[in-house]
Amino acid sequence: MILIGNLVNLLVVVYLCWQMLAGRYMPGDFVYLISSFSAFITNLSGLAQIVSEMQTHSMYIENITKILDYESPRIRQANDCAKNKTGVPANIPTNTTLPEHADAEKILAENVNFRYGNGAIVLQNMNLRIEKGEKVALVGRNGSGKSTLVKLLMDFYPIQEGQILYNGVPYSRFDAGQLTGKFSTVFQDSPIYALSIAENVLMRELLSASDEKLVMEALVFSGLWKKVNALENGIHTILTKEFDDEGIYLSGGEYQKLIIARAYAHQGEILVFDEPASSLDPLAEYELFHKMMRLGADKTVIYITHRMAAAVDADCIYYIEDGTVRERGKHEALMQLQGQYCQMYTIQMKGYE
Ligand code: ADP
Repeated sequence: MILIGNLVNLLVVVYLCWQMLAGRYMPGDFVYLISSFSAFITNLSGLAQIVSEMQTHSMYIENITKILDYESPRIRQANDCAKNKTGVPANIPTNTTLPEHADAEKILAENVNFRYGNGAIVLQNMNLRIEKGEKVALVGRNGSGKSTLVKLLMDFYPIQEGQILYNGVPYSRFDAGQLTGKFSTVFQDSPIYALSIAENVLMRELLSASDEKLVMEALVFSGLWKKVNALENGIHTILTKEFDDEGIYLSGGEYQKLIIARAYAHQGEILVFDEPASSLDPLAEYELFHKMMRLGADKTVIYITHRMAAAVDADCIYYIEDGTVRERGKHEALMQLQGQYCQMYTIQMKGYE
């Protein structure tokens, strides 16, 4: 393409020279035509570049519209309910009676079975009871269904079989998003957005002085304030260079602190930690774990961990295998049981020794 362009340029210059030598143009006309031609070529290549950029941007727009149009299964369920005008999904009888002592427990999962699409069963006969303020650890091998269980508890997906109750009320009775909003989460892969630090903490626009105060408080809590305060634009500094050449990148540990600050600012009544420290060094992990526990001191905390030492102080440990709870109880009781939890704990501790 470049070769053809250069060839055309050369031909035009040769043609104009020839015309000038043949006396058709004066030297002044020749210079004028050459400079006009080169300006035309420059504009044309600029136009071609804009067209190719438009093509690239249209691909981004396609992705954004896909996300905006995305309807999660849970939202679809809520929309179906609205269409039925019953307010209750088709699979839940409208006369569902609430259990007695509805306030006795905070979250109760009863005989829950779940599969993704038409795939294999991921959770089977899952039963779990989480009291308000309890610290609950979910442990087990990779792929045993811990994250899926947490996603169901957070009301990401509609319940397929069995039921989950919040304060005695089936999840399906709540509007989509109503329960999810009660959870503050720290996941290993929590996303960071190419927005300001403040917006990443709040997960919305910064609107007032009290918002600024909250962001500052959250960053002080998570241990990131010193770093942010030293930046020229402070909490308004943009993260990543995706949309801003002056944007900054944080280290892995700093990103995790930002996510902790986000959980602090969100102030959900239930905290969920899904192996957030697995990419950190042991000291950073220790620090993060204690920050998380301080954050959840007077809240319900559900945490997935593969570091068994982190589970020791939990009020209740669930050992999950093949999508079902195999063992449950406090650390000491599970150790006495000498089952799979005990085996996993002992093997890991030997590794540390
Ligand atoms: P764990 O948290 O214990 O590692 P997960 O809940 O992540 O386990 O995964 C349990 C099973 O569900 C795995 O077999 C995994 O491949 C499958 N799974 C997890 N998420 C999805 C998904 N979005 N779509 C299909 N299968 C999934």
